[in-house]
Amino acid sequence: MSCAAAAFDTSLVFVGGHWRRAAGGGTLPLMDPSEGAPLGEIARGQAADIDEAVRAARTAQDGPWGALAAAERGRVLAKMSALVLEEADELARLEALDVGKPLKQARADALALARYLEFYGGAADKVMGRTIPFANGYTAFTLREPHGVTAHIVPWNYPMQIIGRSVGAALAMGNACVLKPAEEACLTALAFARIAERAGLPPGALNVVPGLGEEAGAALSAHAGIDHISFTGSVAVGALVQAAAAKNAVPVTLELGGKSPQLVFADADLDAALPFLVNAGIQNAGQTCSAASRILVERAVLGEVVARMAERYRALRVGRALDDLDVGPVISQRQHEIVSGYLGLVDASGLEVAARAALPPTLPRGGWYVAPTLVADVNPGHRIAQEEIFGPVQAVIAFDGEAEALDIANGTPYGLVAGVWTRDGARQLRLARKLRCGQVFVNNYGAGGGVELPFGGVKHSGHGREKGFEALYGFSSLKTIAIKHD
Ligand code: NAD
Repeated sequence: MSCAAAAFDTSLVFVGGHWRRAAGGGTLPLMDPSEGAPLGEIARGQAADIDEAVRAARTAQDGPWGALAAAERGRVLAKMSALVLEEADELARLEALDVGKPLKQARADALALARYLEFYGGAADKVMGRTIPFANGYTAFTLREPHGVTAHIVPWNYPMQIIGRSVGAALAMGNACVLKPAEEACLTALAFARIAERAGLPPGALNVVPGLGEEAGAALSAHAGIDHISFTGSVAVGALVQAAAAKNAVPVTLELGGKSPQLVFADADLDAALPFLVNAGIQNAGQTCSAASRILVERAVLGEVVARMAERYRALRVGRALDDLDVGPVISQRQHEIVSGYLGLVDASGLEVAARAALPPTLPRGGWYVAPTLVADVNPGHRIAQEEIFGPVQAVIAFDGEAEALDIANGTPYGLVAGVWTRDGARQLRLARKLRCGQVFVNNYGAGGGVELPFGGVKHSGHGREKGFEALYGFSSLKTIAIKHD
């Protein structure tokens, strides 16, 4: 057993329906962020493992998996969904330990994984082509076909959710998948493969090769046998993956970072807004691509919003993942250093810290805890208002009027999500249209995850859409057929 916390051997790769050691037999340490101590070992997948996984996927796609009718594929996904629900508590425990997130957040992620599989299982036989009114004597129509072998490179912050939306949709369309989870958090990806096996997914339809980004990840994105890449992660690595894919002329979906704003106008229902303003900043210790790391507030209510957010910050309870409080540690020593660096910058710039949650003295000394910090009255051009921090730090920025709010909201390199809080219906519509991002939420934020809602970014937040029905189009290619019969 390579990880005492798991009921299975975590140091293996899953290729062609077999569990085995990585080529060369190497492993990588897996760390527990709550303690800053080793949690276990995972396989250090190599280019040879990726190569074998791609071949196994091709064999499955050309064979038993590709041969299944759409409704039968849907049934396999439905079975996987049911098994995820059955194992939700155990999956949540593994995700909490591995990522450091409070148990209730990890449980919500397990339920989201089940919901993605349910949604995409149900959608598998409902993706249709069109007939096209073409020239007389012809019948023309379109078909949606799987790409073939799809690569899925996943980050550590929401492994279950991202596997659900990416692998779930790709399988529903009949693709065979090679999944490369993040080296920092792999346990639920491996547990997911076991669930797929139990559900009767044919061998090779899903392969999981843990390993380092620059080894297994780079080998996967450069592999000539891949037909589509879905990458979720940082802008810098996304650019590398896209460059690698370009060499093979392969389509890529890039789900990258964000610096998402919530815009609070003076006429907003502040009682309704307050929980969303804070939760969207501190959830998963701020390590969320769509974290609302910028809170833009109309000057008339600036004092009230800052005071009420600060009150909530002071009440936040920070603790180990399994203590199941409000905020856990960040993922790694490196991430701790990055976030601490930004907090040092806040102090060095003389910015006003409106509130800092307490770090109780009982926290494990080695754990990677950061005090959730609310910074008031930040200049929109300041680095903490421009750069993705990926920690529990929110910047409040004042604005005067709608035009300035829009300028500030659109004034970063990112464009993932935005929230608007106002009772003015015309303003809601104007801003929904003018905000440059992939999702806009009015008088809510995130819509509880919204498996049905297409998601993705513009600018440095990436391109392509996952979630909802849109993902099924992304994981398929369109074929046009014209038959001359007269
Ligand atoms: P990362 O880019 O460092 O790693 C993401 C994945 O890429 C990991 O599996 C990693 O092993 C792999 N990788 C690393 N180097 C590689 C290479 N050279 N070639 C191929 N693969 C490689 O990102 P991270 O730090 O793990 O995740 C945080 C980032 O992810 C943040 O920027 C966050 O905003 C973003 N993110 C975006 C979304 C979204 O849906 N838009 C969701 C979650 C996270």
